[in-house]
Amino acid sequence: MKTSEYINMENEYGAGNYKPLDVVLTRGEGIWVWDVDGNKYLDCLAAYSAVNQGHCHPEILKAMMDQAKKLTLTSRAFRNDQLPLLYEELCKLTNSHKVLPMNSGAEAVETAIKCVRKWGYEVKGVEQDKAEIIVCADNFHGRTLAIVGFSTDENARDNFGPFAPGFKIIPFGDSDALEKAITKNTVAFMVEPIQGEAGVIIPPEGYLKKAREICEKNNVILILDEIQTGLGRTGALLAEEHEGIEADLTLIGKALSGGFYPVSAVLSNKEVIEILKPGQHGSTFGGNPLACSVARTALKVLVDEGMIENAREMGAYFLSELKKIENKNIRDIRGRGLMIAIEKELIRCLSNEGIMDQITYFFCIKLSREYNGNEMI
Ligand SMILES: *Cc1c(COP(=O)(O)O)cnc(C)c1O
Repeated sequence: MKTSEYINMENEYGAGNYKPLDVVLTRGEGIWVWDVDGNKYLDCLAAYSAVNQGHCHPEILKAMMDQAKKLTLTSRAFRNDQLPLLYEELCKLTNSHKVLPMNSGAEAVETAIKCVRKWGYEVKGVEQDKAEIIVCADNFHGRTLAIVGFSTDENARDNFGPFAPGFKIIPFGDSDALEKAITKNTVAFMVEPIQGEAGVIIPPEGYLKKAREICEKNNVILILDEIQTGLGRTGALLAEEHEGIEADLTLIGKALSGGFYPVSAVLSNKEVIEILKPGQHGSTFGGNPLACSVARTALKVLVDEGMIENAREMGAYFLSELKKIENKNIRDIRGRGLMIAIEKELIRCLSNEGIMDQITYFFCIKLSREYNGNEMI
């Protein structure tokens, strides 16, 4: 089948909730992907950090195949022999006390919201149904109703209401705004260490440290959404390490499975997760043995193969070389580790597509046929 045939078929039968580039990929290996016409690309998006380990990593693939032959899903009505191992390995690696496994990133976010609200009522003593969670403008935490309800992206939230109350939005990178927004009903502050979907927005130096102090002082849970920044992408296992802090709840997903399978988790430093008792939260697929086996191996190769150091070193090199490019279409180049963005000049961009169209990830460089240096932006 030809590229255009795939595209037409997809457009005819698929929901139109995405507008992908017209490249039909069929194979991936490491940092490379190939389209159905045989063109080879360097994948700089890495599925928004879900394939930090590279496409089709052989060791993760093997773990998945071996486990798929043995046992895939038990439900949590029974125990399985992979979950405890994932728990222990994840806690030791991230210096956490407790783990709650889910599937998608959005589910990890929802889990955290449920935990901190319940903690607010039962531990902090917040009046019933008054709990507030502070989030940042231009956040991206996923696509469920509760989450889009506190998005500031109109396209993501318009006409999906009514939304859940209890969220307060402050500017990103502004610790004074955080301090001012806190009330006796505030249970948590949830933030991305670097805003990914907003266009790799790096907050001012010391912001997370200050946020950590403010949360501590006010008995507010600090939730870091590291679903995109975590697991090596920024040159550290977790981006919180760049400021030497520890969140109370850390959300990870995406690269937790190296792209093989949706696996997410809530990592808890304080015992916030302990607030949940049997029957109060769960997921049929969360913590299944196939997911656990894949996640264990995805974490193992990240560490064993020095991928985190590699992201730090190659990212610094990449960024410094990119900054040498002079092109009037480039407004800014920024990043940390291999989480890098090139922001286009506004010229063509004030179109109907809004901000996501003007701030683009360094998507992919077409290497064979028709290669032209300008295609990368
Ligand atoms: C991708 C992402 C999510 C949502 O993850 P899904 O697996 O798509 O539900 C949440 N937060 C951040 C920061 C993300 O990048």
